[in-house]
Order: sequence, then structure tokens, then C-alpha cells
Amino acid sequence: MEKKYLIIGNWKMYKTPSQAVDLAAEILKAGCPENAALVICPPFTHLWGVAAVLKNSAIALGAQNMYPAAEGAFTGEISPAMLKDLGASYVIIGHSERRSIFRESDELIHQKVKAAQEFQLTPILCVGETLAERESGRDREVVAEQINTALDGIDDAHLVIAYEPVWAIGTGRTATPEVAQEMHAFIRDLLKKRFREEGSQIHILYGGSVKPGNAAELFAQRDIAGGLIGGASLVAEDFAAIARAAEK
Ligand code: PEP
Repeated sequence: MEKKYLIIGNWKMYKTPSQAVDLAAEILKAGCPENAALVICPPFTHLWGVAAVLKNSAIALGAQNMYPAAEGAFTGEISPAMLKDLGASYVIIGHSERRSIFRESDELIHQKVKAAQEFQLTPILCVGETLAERESGRDREVVAEQINTALDGIDDAHLVIAYEPVWAIGTGRTATPEVAQEMHAFIRDLLKKRFREEGSQIHILYGGSVKPGNAAELFAQRDIAGGLIGGASLVAEDFAAIARAAEK
């Protein structure tokens, strides 16, 4: 069976709402190969406008975070029900910037994965080791702990994993295809143990300085089924070129 790639753009805290509408329209116009599916994750304030651009298109909408409750006295937070109503079908959870800057714990990330699934949002669970953890040989242990805690007691395989080594995010330093594949194969085994046959179907994406120039060799790896793209997703031609790399 041909691999169906998933290419997800994480716009982080970039673009104004009106710039986001223009960028979404450019991405839509640039098209996408048949063996890839695109998802755009703009900031919360841009979801409404971007949803209108993407309506009836093949590009799906995602958010970058959420709070794990339907509603309540959580000033400044956004619920999965709100995201669903805006037309989102995906939500990024546990991005390394949220883990490091906002001190999100594996336990909170677990609550978020559970709440996302309860509201029929597909969680994009981000995992990855720091440079110090890799250099001390603890990379697999760290990634296994992040996955096992986040998915504790979860038997619904509707989720995406993004392996994003922290040392590769926004640094211009990409993991080699071999290093990335090795960790992806390790994650695949963990998922198969946990979800059995369904564990083979879960998309495991690579993230960390993916660009048009390195996407094809990463996507050619057996267990890499697409990418979570930060910086390069803010330029429509680059994002489209990364999606086309799935064709090669
Ligand atoms: C990210 O934000 O998840 C990411 C991988 O960023 P970048 O592509 O810029 O490294």
C-alpha cells in the first residue's frame, strides 16, 4: 500500500489574523500531491478566518494547544469544544516550546491527549529529547517515558506522533535521515506493543528544521510518514515544496 503522508504546518506565534488568511489562501492555491494530506495550525486568534478560507477544501485545520476541560473558570485558556466548533480537527499537544517555556508536564499532556480524543480532535503528540539527553545516551528512554505517560490508559489509536528532537527545532540543524529513522522505528515498536495492529497505522512525523531541500530524504525513510513543519510552513512555496517531496 502506498504511504499517505501527513504534512502539518505549525505557524507558532507568527502572522496577524489578516496575514494568516492570505497565507492560507496561497497554500491552498499551491496545491498538494495526491499521496499527501495537509494540515495548518495557526494561532487561536486566526482560526476563524483561516477556517473560512479552508472551508470545503482538502486542507484540514488544527490548533497549537488547548486546555483539557470542556469549559470552566480557566482564564486565558481555550477548550477542545471551542476548537471543534471553529472547524479544527487536529490539535498539537506537548510541543517542546510548551514543555520548556510553559513547564507543561507529561501528566498535563496526558490529560490534554485524553480530552482531545473525547472531543474528536486528533492529538498531534510531540515528543523528543534535548541535546544533553541524546549526548548522555538517554534519548530513547526520554522519548519512551514521554509517550508512555502521555498515552497511559489510552486505547484509542486516533492520534499522530511528531518526533521532534529539541536540538533540531528552529535551529537549522536537522537530524540525519538515519538518526530520525532509528527513533521512528523505536516509536513504531512502542505503538505496536500498545495498540497492536492499529499501532502500525499511526502517523509518526519528523519535525525539526525540515526544509524543501531535506524533506525528500527524510520522507523516504520507512517509518517517517510526513513532517511537522515550523519555519518553512510560513512561506507558501516552501510548504508546498515540502508536500511535493512526499511524491518523490
Ligand atoms: C516546530 O515548530 O514544530 C518545528 C519543527 O519548527 P522548525 O521546523 O522551525 O524547526
